[in-house]
Amino acid sequence: MDNTAFFKFTYGLFLVGVEQEGKYNGCIINTAAQATSEPPRILMTMQKKNYTTELLMQKRSAALTILSRQFPLDRIAHFGMQSGRDVPKFAGPYETDANGNPYLADGMNARFALEVSETIDLGTHRLFLCDVSDALTLSDGVPMSYGDYRILKSGGTLGGEAPVSQKKWVCSVCHYEYDGEVPFEALPDDYRCPVCGAGKEHFSLV
Ligand code: FE
Repeated sequence: MDNTAFFKFTYGLFLVGVEQEGKYNGCIINTAAQATSEPPRILMTMQKKNYTTELLMQKRSAALTILSRQFPLDRIAHFGMQSGRDVPKFAGPYETDANGNPYLADGMNARFALEVSETIDLGTHRLFLCDVSDALTLSDGVPMSYGDYRILKSGGTLGGEAPVSQKKWVCSVCHYEYDGEVPFEALPDDYRCPVCGAGKEHFSLV
């Protein structure tokens, strides 16, 4: 089997928050999706060994939020790279939904109040099928995909619709960088460098 085929799936990033008998915890997951719209249901899978999963099995409800691209990378690491058994996840300011489950509003696109209706034991993971009892859009930014997160984590930037090539046409005489809206190739043949007056043939792509 070609395991790289699985890399072609796209995923979002989500924060699942649960409060159970005064214990607050949360973790980052990448597998959550709307299952049906009538009734509104969401499914998600979580690692069984996660503390949040353990609390969710007892509480049977959770606050799910969708991360936007504005959500800071160090906060993803805080919720995703360490266990709530060792570190309090909701140490800073947070809000709670009608079930008392914690969520962060800043840097999030939307939140959902989930009530677990069915679970399936998947070995390493547990699948939760949940009814949605409340939903709210928190911001209109672009949701963070798992691919975005991998780019950011490796030091890259999210260019959106930016062109693949960042090369510019530069005057070889005075080093003026052409940055006009008309593509350089489409300029008339008598175009001249606005700084030194050199002809179009003196420009090169660097
Ligand atoms: Fe020039």
